[in-house]
Amino acid sequence: MTELTNTCPRCGAAFTCGMQAGASACWCAAFPAAFAVPGANEVAAEAGCYCPRCLAALIEQKQASRARADPPSASD
Ligand SMILES: [Zn+2]
Repeated sequence: MTELTNTCPRCGAAFTCGMQAGASACWCAAFPAAFAVPGANEVAAEAGCYCPRCLAALIEQKQASRARADPPSASD
């Protein structure tokens, strides 16, 4: 088990950021890079990033809200 370097600002769970643990890449690199969410930056500046569970949940929420606001076109 690697060192726990971060605390999730959303749920408070301790987790490891690959970058802070000294790895060349973080597990979060496997998530969609589109997670440049306005609002997330406010938290990230202080806390770094979310835990794997919350990051996945937030991406789902973002994609769901985007789908509602802008339904995908079948003939694009
Ligand atoms: Zn979390």
